[in-house]
Order: sequence, then C-alpha cells, then structure tokens
Amino acid sequence: MLSDNSYIENLLIQAKQIYDETVISKILDKADKLEGLSHEEVAQLLVCEDEKHIARIFEIAHKIKNHIYGNRIVLFAPLYVSDYCVNQCAYCNYNHNHGFERRKLTMEQVREEVVILEKMGHKRLALEAGEDEENCSIEFILECLDTIYKMKTENGEIRRVNVNIAATTVENYKKLKAAGIGTYILFQETYHRPTYDKVHIAGPKKDYDYHITAFDRAMEAGIDDVGGGVLFGLHDPYFDVLALMLHNEYLEKKFGVGFHTVSIPRICKADGAIDSAYEYALDDKSFLKIAAILRIAIPFTGMIISTRESPEMRKKLIHAGVSQISGGSSTGVRGYSTPDNSTKQFEINDDRKASDIIEWLIDENMIPSFCTACYRNGRTGDRFMSLAKSGNIKNVCLPNALMTLCEYSCDYGNAEFQKKADTIIEKELSNIENEEVRILTAENIKKIKNGQRDLFI
Ligand code: SF4
Ligand code: SF4
Repeated sequence: MLSDNSYIENLLIQAKQIYDETVISKILDKADKLEGLSHEEVAQLLVCEDEKHIARIFEIAHKIKNHIYGNRIVLFAPLYVSDYCVNQCAYCNYNHNHGFERRKLTMEQVREEVVILEKMGHKRLALEAGEDEENCSIEFILECLDTIYKMKTENGEIRRVNVNIAATTVENYKKLKAAGIGTYILFQETYHRPTYDKVHIAGPKKDYDYHITAFDRAMEAGIDDVGGGVLFGLHDPYFDVLALMLHNEYLEKKFGVGFHTVSIPRICKADGAIDSAYEYALDDKSFLKIAAILRIAIPFTGMIISTRESPEMRKKLIHAGVSQISGGSSTGVRGYSTPDNSTKQFEINDDRKASDIIEWLIDENMIPSFCTACYRNGRTGDRFMSLAKSGNIKNVCLPNALMTLCEYSCDYGNAEFQKKADTIIEKELSNIENEEVRILTAENIKKIKNGQRDLFI
C-alpha cells in the first residue's frame, strides 16, 4: 500500500465523496482521547474545510502538545560535515550540477565547529552530509561521530548525534548503530513516485524503492529510532501526509514501533535549486493545519521544524504541536566557523542566535530543553514508545528539561538570564507530579548550581 500511489489518491477522492460531519466529530473525539488516528481518518480531516472542525483540530493539537510535551521545546543544531553530492535533486543547493567548490571537514574542522556549537550550549546535533561514497564514505561519517563524541570542552559536550545521511546498506547502518547514533533521519522528500522521479534527476537517490526501504534496513541493523519526513511543496501535501502515515503504520506493524520523529520542512529558496520544483508550495494556513493534523494523528512522535521557518511561524507551529526546533543554525559546511564563506544547502528564515532563541522561549513561557536522557538511558524504540504511550514520559521530560536548562544557565547565561531561568525553573518544579521525582530534581538542581554536570533521569 505504501508505494501504491493510486491507493492514496483514491483515498483522498473517497474522503471528499463520503465527507460527513458526524464522522469528523467522531474522529476528533477519538483524537481528543490521545488514541492517535489511522491514515483513513487523517484523510477525512485533510479534506475537511469546515472552520469549526479546523478550530477543534488546533484545540486538540494544542491540548496534546501540553499534555504529552508540556511547554518544553527540545533544541538541536545541524552540523554539515560534507557538501559533496553525486545526486541531482532539483530542490537542493548541493545538487551535483550546481557549480561551487565542494568541501568536507577535516577532523580539526569538526572540532572547531563543535567547540562553537558547544559554546552555544548545544548538547544534541543532527549530522548532515550529501551523498558521495568516494568523498564522504561511511568511514568518514564514523570518524566525525567518534571525534564529536570524544570532545569535551570546558562546559560543553555533545551527548547525542542524530544522523541524516543518504539511504545505505544494513552493514553501514550497523556501523552507525555501533557508533552510538541517536535517531537515523531520512526524508522521503515526496512519496509520489512520478514526482520523486522528476525531482531526482540523476544519482543513486533516484531509486525510489531503495530510498523508501532505508528504514527497513536501518531497523534490521538494530537502529531503534528512525525519523521520517517529507519536503512539503514538492507534491500535493495531503498526498504526502497520508503516505507518511502509511509509512508509520507499516513500520509499526513490521518492527513494533513507528517514527520516533517526523520532520516537517517546507520548501524554500535554495540557490542552486530549479524553480519548477515549487509548484505545490504550501501557504502558512495550510501548513499549520497539516502540522496540527499530524500532531493529533501521531501524538507520541516528536515533531521537528528547522530554521527554514520564520520566528512568527515557529511560534505558531510550536503551539500546533512541534516539540523540537533547531537554534542558531547554519546549513553549510564550516558554517559556524566561517559563516560568511559557507555555501548553504538552503536559506534560513530564523537567523537569531541560539541564545536569543533560548531567551525568547523563556519569554514565551516555554522551557528550552537540552535533554538527551532517553537515548542515554536506553529508552529507545519500543521502550521509549511504551513509556510515551503510558503518559509516564512527562515524569522524566520535565525534570530533565529543568536540569539541562539550569546547566545552560549556569554555564552560558549572564546574571539577567540566570534570574529568568531560575524563575521558570522554580515555577515548573512545582509542576512535577511525582513527589519523589520532584525532590530528586530539586536536589539535582542544587548540585548543578554547585558545579556538578550531566545529571539526568
Ligand atoms: Fe544531495 Fe541530499 Fe541535496 Fe539531494 S538533497 S542534492 S542527496 S544533499
Ligand atoms: Fe526527549 Fe526523553 Fe529527554 Fe523527554 S526525557 S526530552 S523524551 S530525551
């Protein structure tokens, strides 16, 4: 069903034909109980244009966001290690035909970039690279991971590296697993086979079937957490949302666990991209509706947005259910150490410094979190999902968010920031329901203020 495009197209046609107010209400009642939705139910919501139902979709998305993720936002930053790429993807600046001098980081340069990221307070990275076996082999990626994980600067260390590299073999995924990656992230870009074929002009990524089965190989290799996504704007977004849902259901059925995260990038200007790729560009209103539908359909899957979105949109998307954002990002190789010279994969629309984003979150009454605890406590894959589905995840997310914010505040905040952080930490401590955990968190916060680091539960 997943790669049967006519099944999805028919589903959307039927959803319009059988549109029924009572059915929509029942679907929303189900979502309201945090039961998630099937792809058929999502199809019904996607075609729904009734403002009162759409308002309820947002209401439930907001409620789910608060119930499961609270007011915490997990922060991460991308680290581009190589822009060599043999593929010709029409929407990407790194496509092989775009003539610019390609670069990959030396290990010394990896360290330089990571020092800067650590100084921003980051603990969680997404390692990014184009596809080029010759110039950017799996051994190079492993060396980068090893370098990053071994680094420890005065206050900084990267505790989790998610990896976003091209679809590869079971053998290579095993190597990534052994290197201790967090989530393996790969976007299908679009699930619509003819569009996929059109926008992937040449290169190994053109092989739709190899790309769409990458998570099967990653999970066979033992990687527990995989993160999917599409690039909205390449094809009919409703089609791609349904395909994402089907992919999630497929993985749940086959491996017992679906996507750990879903990323929702929207197409934006990239210097070397080809303009015809923007036919289905999504307006803000429809994009927000899609984010909210995804939030209520897969309530326990983290939702990620990047700095492609403006600060205003990021704020709205957070309220619609997004749980992870990047901050202070650069989308180019050596982008942190030599920002002016970097050739970027795509343009960003939120160019605020990480510290400004962190302060902005607090001003918006949200808790910036640098937590990486689950991965380090072995809470991955189905172990993570069962904790999430039982509702008990919040008993660890909130304490960890507060402890990591306290670390950040002590290590990187000035007096004014520390005051702000202390106020929100104090207030949020009382929201930890479990008394034992609340006491432990308060004790840990004292220890952090006294110089201890890396405390988590
Ligand atoms: Fe290469 Fe990825 Fe860009 Fe395609 S999207 S050109 S594979 S870097
Ligand atoms: Fe993520 Fe786990 Fe930390 Fe919660 S406790 S923020 S789920 S790593």
